[in-house]
Amino acid sequence: MKEKQKIINPASGEIITEIALASEPDVKEVTALAREAFDKGPWPRLPLAERKNFLLKISQGIRDKAGELAKLETQNTGKPIKETTFMDIPSSAKTFEFIANNFQKYLEIESPNLEAQAQCRLIREPIGVVVLIVPWNYPLLIASWKLASALASGNTVILKPSSLTPLTAIELGKIIAEAGIPKGVVNVICADAQKIGRILCEDSRVDMISFTGSNTTGRKILEYSLKNTKKMLLELGGKSASIIFKDADLETVINSCLCSAFLNQGQMCTAMSRILVEDEIYDKFSACFIEKAKRIKLGMGEDFQTQMGPLISEEQRKNILDCVEKAKKQGAKLCCGGKIPLDPNLKNGFFFEPTVFIDVLPQMAIFQEEAFGPIACISKFSSLNEAVSLANDSNFGLAGCIWTKDITKAEGLAKELNTGTIWINTYGMFYNECPFGGFKQSGFGKELGKEGFLEYTRLKNVLTDLSPEGKPLVNYWYGF
Ligand code: NAD
Repeated sequence: MKEKQKIINPASGEIITEIALASEPDVKEVTALAREAFDKGPWPRLPLAERKNFLLKISQGIRDKAGELAKLETQNTGKPIKETTFMDIPSSAKTFEFIANNFQKYLEIESPNLEAQAQCRLIREPIGVVVLIVPWNYPLLIASWKLASALASGNTVILKPSSLTPLTAIELGKIIAEAGIPKGVVNVICADAQKIGRILCEDSRVDMISFTGSNTTGRKILEYSLKNTKKMLLELGGKSASIIFKDADLETVINSCLCSAFLNQGQMCTAMSRILVEDEIYDKFSACFIEKAKRIKLGMGEDFQTQMGPLISEEQRKNILDCVEKAKKQGAKLCCGGKIPLDPNLKNGFFFEPTVFIDVLPQMAIFQEEAFGPIACISKFSSLNEAVSLANDSNFGLAGCIWTKDITKAEGLAKELNTGTIWINTYGMFYNECPFGGFKQSGFGKELGKEGFLEYTRLKNVLTDLSPEGKPLVNYWYGF
């Protein structure tokens, strides 16, 4: 009998379905299938134009089922249907389409010219069997970022969704099968990560692990992978900062900061959970921000009017409550939220009020540690140097925002910030063309863009001697 897992709707606490979990032998079997498909199967050897067509079919398959997928993602994550309908699902389809249309160009490579009679040919190849481990905050989207590039470059993959949110990954597996991708190329496994993580990641038949998730798990996966050294791509946590100068358009900034702190219930790796405001506008900014945060409409994900859904689980809500208590003890001033809403319609879900702390100082845990929930921390700065040092005072380095009308100042400041992405006068613009990835404890490697695609390839150097008698040193050194 297979072990089963109940999949919960976090907005109602109801069971959506039960799924069978892969056992240790199942994981080994799937790894063997993926290895066989890479070593002997057609996928890595397919003409690029054919691989392109398969990717386009997957993209179309997602579009054909967009409505169903949006509902399912909302049901499983609790996030508002507006988000899944307009962001998660169409963006997933777009990533497959974009990679399909661009990967051949990305594979083109210029080989260096060598001395006469010597020829170098550089070749980009797939890496082999790639394990893709994804989190629960953007289940289909992050799976699609990884899958599109890993598949286009000719790898075979094992996709492990979060055990909290596996439902759209299972559907994606079906779409991929319907597209006619050969058996063994894409393998979706749902399993208890604590039981199978080591077995999967230690396996010498796996060549690469692409992981997005928490720093705690990221460190474990690094450790597992050491046994049979393999390529790693790690996209980890963040504690990103928005820097707001007094000349910025206040209304635009406040609305954008609400979005960057509270979208997806603040469960975003790029959440701008630290808001650094120039002292002259600090009081006005804080008052308006708090007033608007109090008006955010919490509710069921299926309702198009809902602006904020529940947290993913009771455990996550406990973590957020702990963060709030610790922040209060350490002297941060709680100005709104910080508790479970009283609305009886929300009582069965894992809801939490949008929470704002002001006068937050860098030595407080809430300034340093990723909460991964709807908590915004507002701090004050009085000079450009202080803004830089506050923003960089973090172990993380994922993203940052700068708000000012002075673009020269903003671009200068962007160079000083220790983060992989900087948004100037905007937030959250993700383009398939642009690489995304963090610095410092936020991980290494890139997703998206040419650089993200190339992560899933390896570079081979083929050197040929074209001289009639061979190179003197090589041929005559022992040429008795
Ligand atoms: P998590 O680390 O708990 O889980 C991530 C994935 O790892 C899940 O599939 C989980 O089942 C799996 N996992 C857990 N333990 C494992 C083990 N021992 N071996 C193998 N796999 C294991 O993270 P989460 O709670 O799902 O996601 C939230 C975290 O993800 C936050 O820290 C957030 O910042 C980060 N995140 C980062 C990015 C980015 O691009 N940098 C994007 C989204 C989320």
